[in-house]
Amino acid sequence: MSSNTHHLLEDAQSRMADIYEWLEVADDSRHRLGQPKRIHQASLSVRMDDGSLRVFPAWRVQYDDTRGPTKGGIRFHPDVTEDEVATLSFWMTLKCAAVDLPFGGAKGGICVDPKTLSRMELERLSRSYIRAFHDVIGPERDIPAPDVNTNAIIMGWMVDEYAQIERRHVPGVITGKPLGLGGSIGREQATGAGALQVLDMWVKRQHQEPGDLRVAIQGFGNAGQHFARLAHDAGYNIVALSDSQGAIYSEEGLDPAPILRHKNRTRELKGMVYCDDSVCDAAQTQPLSGDDLLELDVDVLVLAALENQITDANADRVRAGAIVEIANGPVSTGGDRVLQDRNIPVIPDIIANAGGVIVSHLEWVQNRMGDYWSGEAVEKQLRRRLEREANACFNLAEEKAIPLRTAAYIQGVGRIVDAMAQQGTQGYFNGHHG
Ligand code: NAD
Repeated sequence: MSSNTHHLLEDAQSRMADIYEWLEVADDSRHRLGQPKRIHQASLSVRMDDGSLRVFPAWRVQYDDTRGPTKGGIRFHPDVTEDEVATLSFWMTLKCAAVDLPFGGAKGGICVDPKTLSRMELERLSRSYIRAFHDVIGPERDIPAPDVNTNAIIMGWMVDEYAQIERRHVPGVITGKPLGLGGSIGREQATGAGALQVLDMWVKRQHQEPGDLRVAIQGFGNAGQHFARLAHDAGYNIVALSDSQGAIYSEEGLDPAPILRHKNRTRELKGMVYCDDSVCDAAQTQPLSGDDLLELDVDVLVLAALENQITDANADRVRAGAIVEIANGPVSTGGDRVLQDRNIPVIPDIIANAGGVIVSHLEWVQNRMGDYWSGEAVEKQLRRRLEREANACFNLAEEKAIPLRTAAYIQGVGRIVDAMAQQGTQGYFNGHHG
């Protein structure tokens, strides 16, 4: 990841000045939203298969819980830092509020390259994360989920470790679990499905047709691959795909399904947590560098990998007609400014990728009721909430002639500061006004 990772939270927070120009926000609320409420750090000692001991730094950051228990994924990545986890927890806070979920925001991470671990080492590491943070998470406290390099299998180990410590089943402590362990139908594809729904809504508003649009996608993991598959089925022309090892391009268009099957083959054969192959192994395509993908002349560039991919260093070379942020924070504040000057709209992360947390909320509700819904029921609820919230964001942007991100932030921050005001701010306590 880029070197400005160290200033990620500062960069993310710098966007708030703009938002406070549009919203009346008490100083109290500005202070509270200015930094995370709690940062938990641990060193996880894990016995390796060869008998050696390794220690991995790990975090759980709970940014704000005014609107409900905090919610956010756990990332396993060698570049994870406290600053990154804190920033991701800030974005989760805004996202949950922007789509009106009764959650605050949190995030977790372990600084590790999980692909260098054996399956048993990975299980021990995952369980040790829960032992370290057991007392600060819980269905009414803070609810983790998958993020980069974590998946349903890992969530299954984690929910089991929590149950062992508690000596009772508590499925609502973690979402994104396997179906047999209290997961929800539709959770795995929810982020990609939600992103496609939001893109469809935007495309319709532009009076365009999916069949006329050429799409490039950076990132072919949980979020990116479901989006790619569903967008292809909906008629979009996917011309380029990338993962961490490289990119492929085809003028006639790519079918993501066989590429995904190929990428997953080693995983299916060996029952692995991760697959070893890359999109680059797909036959009859033109190889491309990851950076070149970002600069392709396409109608829609979908960013589904990591943060800070479009910054002020490369935003002037973007030739896409529009950007969809499926990853969290893939466009930096500087990148945003350049894109805005060049009239390239960005459909922001906190709306575009909210499908994941919306279905995580549905999973949490099902766990707490002890009853489970059909795929149709889950999909209907996802579609209804996202349609309402994305439309509100699009309408606000249009009405005030502001970027979509500004509108989404106003929507989310507005709800958080309203809740804070209901606890009383300075004006209430000094008797001047409510
Ligand atoms: P993942 O680990 O399943 O996949 C990440 C993908 O990105 C992999 O294909 C990896 O090879 C690729 N990648 C990494 N670095 C890259 C680079 N430099 N260039 C191109 N590709 C690169 O993770 P995920 O769950 O799909 O998450 C991806 C992004 O979406 C993250 O920002 C995450 O926070 C966000 N997100 C995920 C969910 C979810 O439900 N999974 C929900 C909301 C947001």
